[in-house]
Amino acid sequence: MQFIDLHRQYQRIHSEIDQALKRVLEHGQFIMGPEIAELEGRLAAFVGARHCVCCSSGTDALLMPMMAAGIGPGDAVFTTPFSFFATAETVSLLGATPVFSDIDPHSYNLDPVALRQAVTEVLNEGRLTPRAILAVDLYGLCADYDALSAIACEFGLLLIEDGAQAFGATYQGRRAPNLADVGTTSFFPAKPLGCYGDGGAVFTNDDAQADVFRSIRIHGHGPDRANFVRIGLNARMDTLQAAVLLEKLSIYEDEIEARQGVATRYRKGFAGLPLVLQEIDADCRSVYAQFCIETDHRAALLAALGEAGIPTAIHYARPIHRMDVYAHLGYRPGSLPVAERVAERILALPFHPYLEPAEIDRIAGVIRQTLERIG
Ligand SMILES: *Cc1c(COP(=O)(O)O)cnc(C)c1O
Repeated sequence: MQFIDLHRQYQRIHSEIDQALKRVLEHGQFIMGPEIAELEGRLAAFVGARHCVCCSSGTDALLMPMMAAGIGPGDAVFTTPFSFFATAETVSLLGATPVFSDIDPHSYNLDPVALRQAVTEVLNEGRLTPRAILAVDLYGLCADYDALSAIACEFGLLLIEDGAQAFGATYQGRRAPNLADVGTTSFFPAKPLGCYGDGGAVFTNDDAQADVFRSIRIHGHGPDRANFVRIGLNARMDTLQAAVLLEKLSIYEDEIEARQGVATRYRKGFAGLPLVLQEIDADCRSVYAQFCIETDHRAALLAALGEAGIPTAIHYARPIHRMDVYAHLGYRPGSLPVAERVAERILALPFHPYLEPAEIDRIAGVIRQTLERIG
């Protein structure tokens, strides 16, 4: 059994993908070929955004809106400590300071009450200038954008959605990552919508902002391509990856449905067990980049699942504010207690849209037996 079985998806659409790749090999426009614009149109339509700018990774996608906003030294970007490292890393790469704010114990996403307090503290301290909120849709579940937008408005902050794990997730009928001033996603192979290498995209409804992203994507070029008007990146998506994504996008709606079925079956399998699951509001639909359980008995479950040949992962074992690289920021054990507690108890189970009912039942069975044995 695999943690994320990409081969089963490939088996379903192998002839379409093979043909799409062959078309690119034949037309030979490996950089900014016609598949890029076609994919951007389809991704924008999928989430209801005016613009999509495809790029080289979810990490570069995060850099682009912060570069466009001129975020740098002396600026504070408020973000979650419970995410993949790249979220905070991009803030630091631009010379700005990530300010970590604790998560909600039920959704594992930014807690708006803690966030508002963090912004107020930074303002009172007066050392850094609050510039942006960088929210993450953890495990494919959208953060609370109503509450986050209100805070962003109150303090005049740019609200950025890191939707690397949540492309196509819904929040009050709207789709990620089109829930903030600007949204980003990743097409890393293991993400819900993944390509066969690195890839990402930025989404916005602002025409001028989209033009800046397109410029930053190619070294900061101006309307006249021989003239460079800002410092940018080499952040293009490969045409071959766009060709793969076009085929995968055609079945993505169906896969999102299948993901709901897998999650529902896991939940039924866990009925009555002392496990905490990420709480999903009725007006939200997760795309389940990860399916995690929170437990007092992680070590025992890791051992039992491992013995049964069931792969597991821990996302994330160490909250970002406790990484060595951020030691200078002065966070201590207990600084952000919710994130720290969840990091000690969380465990990710195999999850993909092609997981069979019998496989889910076997995984849930091992967990049930182990917990019942412990009592
Ligand atoms: C995967 C991920 C990223 C980085 O995406 P890459 O495409 O690997 O650069 C950023 N943020 C979050 C929350 C992620 O899960």
